[in-house]
Amino acid sequence: MTISDLTIHALHSALKNKQISSVEATTAMLERINSVEPQVCSFITVTSEQALADARAADKRIASGDCQPLTGIPLAIKDIFLTEGIRTTCGSRILESFIPPYSASSWEKLKAQGTVLLGKLNQDEFAMGSSNESSAYGITRNPWDISCIPGGSSGGSAAAVAAREAVATLGTDTGGSIRQPASHCGCVGLKPTYGRVSRYGVIAYASSLDQVGPLTRDVADCALMLEAIAGHDPKDSTSVDTSVPKYSAGLASGVKGLKIGLPKEYFIDGLDPDVQHAMTAAIETYRRLGAEFVDISLPHTDYAVATYYLIATAEASSNLARYDGVRFGHRAEAAGLLDMYTKSRSEGFGTEVKRRIMLGTYALSSGYYDAYYVKAQKVRTLIMNDFMSAFSHVDVMLTPVAPTPAFKIGEKINDPLQMYLSDIFTIPVNLAGTCAMSLPAGFSAHGLPIGLQLIGKPFAEETILRAGYAFEQATEWHTRKASI
Ligand code: GLN
Repeated sequence: MTISDLTIHALHSALKNKQISSVEATTAMLERINSVEPQVCSFITVTSEQALADARAADKRIASGDCQPLTGIPLAIKDIFLTEGIRTTCGSRILESFIPPYSASSWEKLKAQGTVLLGKLNQDEFAMGSSNESSAYGITRNPWDISCIPGGSSGGSAAAVAAREAVATLGTDTGGSIRQPASHCGCVGLKPTYGRVSRYGVIAYASSLDQVGPLTRDVADCALMLEAIAGHDPKDSTSVDTSVPKYSAGLASGVKGLKIGLPKEYFIDGLDPDVQHAMTAAIETYRRLGAEFVDISLPHTDYAVATYYLIATAEASSNLARYDGVRFGHRAEAAGLLDMYTKSRSEGFGTEVKRRIMLGTYALSSGYYDAYYVKAQKVRTLIMNDFMSAFSHVDVMLTPVAPTPAFKIGEKINDPLQMYLSDIFTIPVNLAGTCAMSLPAGFSAHGLPIGLQLIGKPFAEETILRAGYAFEQATEWHTRKASI
């Protein structure tokens, strides 16, 4: 097996046993990035020098006998995470030359274990999108078929794992941005419960929905990454102060007697037949493994996308007010202050971001606030209640991640509503604030990966990881490699 194909746990053993050094592993990854980037475009910035310096430091640490699970592992992170001294664009022109003065807590935690930073990954501008086509730094392509989108907004994070340009990556998920690209690129992606991972130093899109999570080659790696980044952070008042389980220790306990709910609203007529087929096969696999299935209902599912697009855009319009040309990023030449604001924002933001700011500002404007924003908040509570009552009957839920496999580049770019609908199965989880994971569950007739979503109770990441691990042990989907 080539170095760039290794999982975190395999590379960790090789590093620990001194079969390979972190410098060798990092060099192999950088070579791989060099050779596939012209086709995939997963990275906005490759930090080669930083990576080699990190790797040398990791090798010293390992030589001194300190080899933690992530020490010396070459990773890359979405360009939404602030990285001290390293350009952070969030996929936007407006932050083209922004160098943050401090780093995101989740990245600090990975760094503390001695990981290696390969670079910053491509994404939809300000994480708004489902296809990576709204990035100001080129469209990331799906490593399984470069005429297709990788999903979004963490498209670079998924494509880099699938193209074997990074061992694992970090992404963010506001309405599906970890799970949907993981599904389209055939990797594992986990959105933790709101509050499980610190959002400090993560550029805000919709603060009540945003969460940080890993994208990896398998479930064991996912558990290791989550273990490293989870936990309370005094710098993020929304991070919750509960202990972090040792996720990697409980993986192998199986699913015998586990009650899995099938929400009827998620198995709709419009589901792509290949996706439907993969779900049926997955249910069969779980039955064989001893899980029990229960039919459940999440009755307010139909309202989730509309609710999300009111709440997310409202929060975004407020969060993005700070990009005014004064304190951050791009500043246009103009005669007066107001003109400077307007010109800086007009030049710096792309079409989708402008659309969201207008939608959000409208939903918050006086006269419409009660009709749209307040109503959306109320419906959000109903959606949350749906989940909580269903979870009194089941331990986890099984659903598709997306209604179709990856679509073609350009296919939905001029039809925002179609694009928004591609997150129909992931958005409700963010509104409910709970956790969910996407894992490889099959392939379409055209050879594109199909993901399975496991939704857990709040703070029950351990259960979905255990269920995901059992599925992975019984199937071989995660072992297939994109031909790129
Ligand atoms: N596609 C959704 C949106 O554009 C979700 C994005 C995300 O999770 N960041 O808002």
